[in-house]
Amino acid sequence: MGRIWVGVLVVLAIVVGVAAQKGEKAEAKCPYCHEDPALMKAAGVLTHGPIKIGDKDSEELERTLPVARWLYLETAHLRFASALGDSGIDQKDRERVEAELTRLRAALPDVPVKPKKLDPFLRLHLQAMKGEEFYARFQALLGVKDADFPAERDIDAPYMGAGRFLGEKDKFEVVLHVSRDNHRRYTTSFSGVAVNDSFRWHFPGLHKLLVSVPVEDADLKDDRGLWPHIVHNLSHTFLCAYKHFSYDPPVWIDEGLAEAMEKEIDPQSRTTEGEEGSLRDTRFPADFGAAATKLVQSGKAPRLAELMGAKDFSELGQNGSVAAWSITRFLLEAHAEKYARFLAGLKGQLDANGTPSGEDLPGLQRKLLREQWGWSPADLDEAWQAWVKAGGHAPPVKR
Ligand SMILES: [Zn+2]
Ligand SMILES: [Zn+2]
Repeated sequence: MGRIWVGVLVVLAIVVGVAAQKGEKAEAKCPYCHEDPALMKAAGVLTHGPIKIGDKDSEELERTLPVARWLYLETAHLRFASALGDSGIDQKDRERVEAELTRLRAALPDVPVKPKKLDPFLRLHLQAMKGEEFYARFQALLGVKDADFPAERDIDAPYMGAGRFLGEKDKFEVVLHVSRDNHRRYTTSFSGVAVNDSFRWHFPGLHKLLVSVPVEDADLKDDRGLWPHIVHNLSHTFLCAYKHFSYDPPVWIDEGLAEAMEKEIDPQSRTTEGEEGSLRDTRFPADFGAAATKLVQSGKAPRLAELMGAKDFSELGQNGSVAAWSITRFLLEAHAEKYARFLAGLKGQLDANGTPSGEDLPGLQRKLLREQWGWSPADLDEAWQAWVKAGGHAPPVKR
């Protein structure tokens, strides 16, 4: 376990210097919740720290990775540690940001109207709010709720993993670094591997999953680009965690769902996976819907039987990634309940001794397709392609 994943965002090679903002107010309290218990509760915040995140407590994190200031935030299902400074607000993104601020202001009245930028505390509160919203979205698509996951495995009940957080024992964690150097030092400290790009890790002894993101490249600097990238990574961790991360889920499903979740946040956003950047140079279409439609109409769409055999993200390639995303959208939109049961079956396989087993996942997928739909992989191809041809990815009609 402790498999290494690498998330790569196609990036411009622009390195923006990070201005350390050491100031007299460095230890000031959060200006939004003021660490007031009633306000924090209203905003779903358990603490601003210090906390233990990953394998380190705040003191060790700050000592080993000194930055201007680390901020922390813990919610019901998530923990964040952020070394980030301010985020700009793209004028084209104003409306969406204002809507988010309005939601946050319902809990925290001091959240400003039309700020010029998002300061570190505001970013963190927005990320926490949206993180819990995304957790709820993911639970809804799985058709589960918190109460479905006992703290310990219940031998007499259907297998749901080993803990309360989708089957893991502890919360999901996001660590945001100001530089790639810090990210590399951080990932090395617990995994032994220095990685350049976003990194996901399962701590076997601690039974929790963490995402570490180097927020250095231009397209990740502001929250507009950063948040969908975090959602992509969290989608992988949530699916892996579901009924405990005992084996890797099929790549096409894992990546198709992460792409679908990322694009629900921002249709233009695209996170490229690849072990050590093997897909870094692959160009992906800006509009996946148009690309999928073209692929199907050309008769050259990959078959599900091929996708099922992909062993890692690079094997999916461009067409495979587009097809995996498109099939996932089809299942989410036209077969939501069956898709939830399909995922439930894929993630909870036990061997004859009742031990989680990732054996013969292609065979398991065929069995589940048959059970849920009466489909072979070719039948799914046909149903999916018919849906695409009938305008499945057509943009919604503007009123
Ligand atoms: Zn606060
Ligand atoms: Zn991915």
